Amino acid sequence: MRVLIADDNAVYRRLLQHALELWGYTVLIAVDGEAAWHTLDAADSPPMAIIDWMMPGLDGIEIVKRLRARQRSCYTYVLLLTSRSELNDVELGLYAGSDDYLTKPFELPELKARLFAGSRVLRLHEELHATITKLHEIARHDSLTGLLNRKAILAGLNEELERARRAHTAVTVMMIDVDHFKKVNDLYGHPAGDAVLAEVGRRLKFSIRAYDSAGRYGGEEFLVCLPDCDSDAAHEVAERVRLTIAGSEILAEKLAISTSASIGIASSTHAPDMEDLVRCADQALYQAKLAGRNRVCTYGSELRDHGSIVSEPATTLVRMP
Ligand SMILES: [Mg+2]
Repeated sequence: MRVLIADDNAVYRRLLQHALELWGYTVLIAVDGEAAWHTLDAADSPPMAIIDWMMPGLDGIEIVKRLRARQRSCYTYVLLLTSRSELNDVELGLYAGSDDYLTKPFELPELKARLFAGSRVLRLHEELHATITKLHEIARHDSLTGLLNRKAILAGLNEELERARRAHTAVTVMMIDVDHFKKVNDLYGHPAGDAVLAEVGRRLKFSIRAYDSAGRYGGEEFLVCLPDCDSDAAHEVAERVRLTIAGSEILAEKLAISTSASIGIASSTHAPDMEDLVRCADQALYQAKLAGRNRVCTYGSELRDHGSIVSEPATTLVRMP
């Protein structure tokens, strides 16, 4: 573990460095308060710091106050070193935000034990942080497809629309619906249906641009947000998505299932408001369904049918030999 030693006293610095390196810590050194803050405020700051209270420039208390005032997910464990031993000073140090303190002169075995306890606190903090991050990810994603869930994709779309308003660019959305999906569930059961949705999600993610985001909007409906993209450019992406989904059979539950999807496109140049934009994409999707499915329709240009020329049979099921 990396530990910062901040002390203006060269004798203490050497003593601490020698002991800590002997105990297996990687030591960083600061000779005054400013240098200590510089190290602790860096992006790759060490997780633990032994900070002398009395230093020229910034003192230990001020450094701890600054550390605790900033918003960071990683925690810095601080052990304050002080030559003052009055109870009031110890209280001040702890209330300011230090985790522990030692009064100079101190015994090295005690320092070793306190650093050990500090490492345990840091480990618990890391575990907690990892758990929170994981829960946050779970809360944002659809467990079946691994895509964003409805709430997360809409939140992302809202952010992109705000960004587009500032940058005077267009955001386009795609509403995708798997054709005749109910048949898969009805005829072959939900495990087969789930496998089809998971594979459609995978093909969808594979076909969009790196900076597009895809989410499961509900049931067999998917929503894709395409930033900095007009409806013509989105149409190219949508065609790629459509062809990839319909391109080959999906293997599920010992079946080879042919699947297709209908896609509706709408751009923020038509509907700058999020609810309207999603509604317009939904209307375009409805047009695609009406026109025979397995095709792309763009809101506001219904006369220009982007759909497939050959009307392929929608979901067909072929039993594997
Ligand atoms: Mg000092």
